[in-house]
Amino acid sequence: MEGLDEFKKAIAKYGHFFKHARVDKAQAISVEEIQQTIASRARVELDTGRSLEENVEYLNSKGLLAQWAAEIGGRIGDKVDNPGKALEAALEGRLEEQGARAMLLAIQAVARSYADKLLERGVGYEPSARCPVCGLESRTMVRRGRWFNMICHFCGYEWRVSNRMVCPYCGESNPVAVGVYGDKARRVMLAKCHTCNSTWRVVMDETIRAPRILLPLIALKAEQFQVFANLGSGRGDAGLEWSQIHAEGGYEE
Ligand SMILES: [Zn+2]
Ligand SMILES: [Zn+2]
Repeated sequence: MEGLDEFKKAIAKYGHFFKHARVDKAQAISVEEIQQTIASRARVELDTGRSLEENVEYLNSKGLLAQWAAEIGGRIGDKVDNPGKALEAALEGRLEEQGARAMLLAIQAVARSYADKLLERGVGYEPSARCPVCGLESRTMVRRGRWFNMICHFCGYEWRVSNRMVCPYCGESNPVAVGVYGDKARRVMLAKCHTCNSTWRVVMDETIRAPRILLPLIALKAEQFQVFANLGSGRGDAGLEWSQIHAEGGYEE
């Protein structure tokens, strides 16, 4: 995992890319700090021969997950009185329930540590938008040389999708059917598949250097090109999820 200094620098440098997400930067840094601490503690417990889910179950059975959730809860003001209930609520996406956000952030720290371990063996290949590690659907693509990779907004895992612009939702590869919209700078762009109507964000400019976990947030800048793509309000918003999990605040069109 990239260090806290890199995280802070990237927040300062690219904050204007996600100004509409209303991220509380100080809290994002505070959460990152504790997540990194927990990720390094989780690291020695994780077994990449087993699934992420099995690892989370194991950490939960040892009482570590509850302990870590309580620590995060102390930072974000979300008390975890009943770890079992908080875990259930976190997994079911009921983040307004007490302790659920703290628990989800603890699970995320574990997931990030697990994804990091896998990435040490190299970037995987998976021709879809679904994260091979945690199963969530990504909306963030990054260009890496001749490759287009996806990045998970939750665990930070990165995987290769294709070596040209292909829709990661339906596999459409006809360049006429997949449009990419942006401004002259071509730093962050919005892609749209006219076959399945999916949209996703693409960090095109490889000089944008930031910790992987921040790239989905930086990619939110692409939302300003929705008008060019002549789109409606869009679909499930991975960036919104990211900012909800990491820091309070919603996304404004
Ligand atoms: Zn993931
Ligand atoms: Zn498609």
